[in-house]
Amino acid sequence: MTNPLLNDWTTPFKIAPFDRISDADFAPAFELALAEHQAEVTAIADNPEDPTFSNTVEALEAAGVALDKVLSVFFSVAGADSNSEREALQRDFSPKLAAHSAEISSNKALFDRIATIWGTRDELDLTEEQQRVLMLTHRGFVRGGAALDGAADTRMKEIKSRLAVLGTDFTQNLLADEREWFMPLTEQDLEGLPDFAIDAMRAAGEEKGADGPVVTLSRSVIVPFLQFSPRRDLRETAFAAWAARGANGGKTDNRAIAAETLALREERAKLLGYDSFSDFKLETEMAKTPEAVRALLMAVWEPAKARAEADGVVLTDMMHGDGINGDLEPWDWRYYAEKRRKAEHDLDEAALKPYLQLERMIEASFACATRLFGLTFKELDVPLYHADCRAWEVTRDGAHVAVFIGDYFARGGKRSGAWCSAMRGQAKFPEVQGPVVINVCNFAKGDPALLSYDDARTLFHEFGHALHQMLSNVTYESVSGTSVARDFVELPSQLYEHWLEVPEVLAEFATHAETGEAMPQDMLEKVLGAANFDQGFATVEYVASALVDLAFHDGAAPADPMAKQAEVLAALGMPRAITMRHATPQFAHVFAGDGYSSGYYSYMWSEVMDADAFEAFEEAGGPFDGATAKALETHILSAGGTVEADELYKRFRGRLPGVEALLKGRGLAA
Ligand SMILES: [Zn+2]
Repeated sequence: MTNPLLNDWTTPFKIAPFDRISDADFAPAFELALAEHQAEVTAIADNPEDPTFSNTVEALEAAGVALDKVLSVFFSVAGADSNSEREALQRDFSPKLAAHSAEISSNKALFDRIATIWGTRDELDLTEEQQRVLMLTHRGFVRGGAALDGAADTRMKEIKSRLAVLGTDFTQNLLADEREWFMPLTEQDLEGLPDFAIDAMRAAGEEKGADGPVVTLSRSVIVPFLQFSPRRDLRETAFAAWAARGANGGKTDNRAIAAETLALREERAKLLGYDSFSDFKLETEMAKTPEAVRALLMAVWEPAKARAEADGVVLTDMMHGDGINGDLEPWDWRYYAEKRRKAEHDLDEAALKPYLQLERMIEASFACATRLFGLTFKELDVPLYHADCRAWEVTRDGAHVAVFIGDYFARGGKRSGAWCSAMRGQAKFPEVQGPVVINVCNFAKGDPALLSYDDARTLFHEFGHALHQMLSNVTYESVSGTSVARDFVELPSQLYEHWLEVPEVLAEFATHAETGEAMPQDMLEKVLGAANFDQGFATVEYVASALVDLAFHDGAAPADPMAKQAEVLAALGMPRAITMRHATPQFAHVFAGDGYSSGYYSYMWSEVMDADAFEAFEEAGGPFDGATAKALETHILSAGGTVEADELYKRFRGRLPGVEALLKGRGLAA
């Protein structure tokens, strides 16, 4: 074979030979690799021998090597360095991949073999990890509907395809409403707005073809407007349009879509034998039951509401001081909160930036991993997909651990946000393979490149995910690294952010780009203090959304989701000047697809754990306590998904997490 994607990779650490791969190689390699995987799966399903763990479950694990190689390279460049050719390839590959996985999950012969092995699991001499892989494989097929037949099977397929249509419609309606509305501003209306917001509004005006600046419903435009504009009348108009997205009547209204979606989800869960969609959805999560989710959210709700109400009194007084009488409204909160922030925690971003050099922050993230886990980093000279990418070999006591790649700078062709992925996951079966892990960010280039504090936190966050991949020490790739429950996967990343906040780390690595001096103490305190600001508001708007999401899916689907939403908020005593972070007609997390349906709580679930886990270090003597770091690696970072998440956490902490550390961290503790 001459296709460099399919050849044996003889590069250092078998990193993909990026300098020899061209875009023309992708399509032929993809077709061959896909056909090879199909043939492998068919051979496993049609094997005349009786099913065994080895000839079925392990055989599935070992299959698809070529496809993994091709896709790991393709998705890396398609996400981080795209072009029109790669976009066209992605449009071609995506439906083929979806059809391929649907074909596997509905392969009855294959499912029969897995079900037979599952039925005799107690007689098989399997390791704990093998039992886990068998359970996950079997459960994945069952949850996909492989055990259904006849009318139930047909109905399941109908429901799935209808839900896919509804999800797409929901997203497109929301986008249409966001695109259509804008509010022209005169030069006078710009008074009080900071330069970055004015720039954004002028750019938005040009994009809309208006002859001046406009406010749009994009979060990056409307939120600064609500924060900074002293014009209460304009804030009210803009807020009303923002709140009405997806609920304007007519073709783009999402309310009927929400109702139909919830009804179909309930039906789907019942076809599979679950009491409710929440029971179905939470089965694979650490939380497991709707009761556990509700208990966590309610433990946070009351203190958050109390804080928000106290803050509301302060903000109302500020408004009255401006000569405006009456109640504080939702279009007032951000404006007065911003005024208060400026008075109490003014942090000059421009003065802060020179202290946060990208190079030094990378060093800081590595240095913490050296102190905690004994890892060392040596830069490698290997060809990668873009000149901005850098690679390091990660070792411990001289032994190879992983390859870490950093692709830090924003550029056209890179999607927004930041992420971590494994170009190759850790595994020992069918042979030992070391992980190749990449962090992709969107930082502004500069000489030297400087970060905002949020950027620095993102760097640590993604590096926490990278550690989860790099320190993985399991047998099967399907349970390695970050292959864990959704409400557990953010624990290592959010936990790692805490080391950026360790004063000695900032003192050592946050040095001025020109003078080399350490960050002054008062600036350091302001940076750390700003994190807690207005957390009553942020927690209330988030928890209210999470509780409505749960109420939608736990029990019978509501015929009128808007009435259900109103009922939940009334029972909670939602403060009048705060609205849900995502009201139902705009709740894309829940209705654009299945990802976060009955799962919006998981952000806070992870935060509860990361706060509690970091406290384990503090209780044991400090952020670099060796025994706690060892326990974190043994029970969480190296274990991947080999054991249930709650059990992993208990092994690390000796108990399940409590909400106290989170409340303290958000400044909500009594
Ligand atoms: Zn993350």
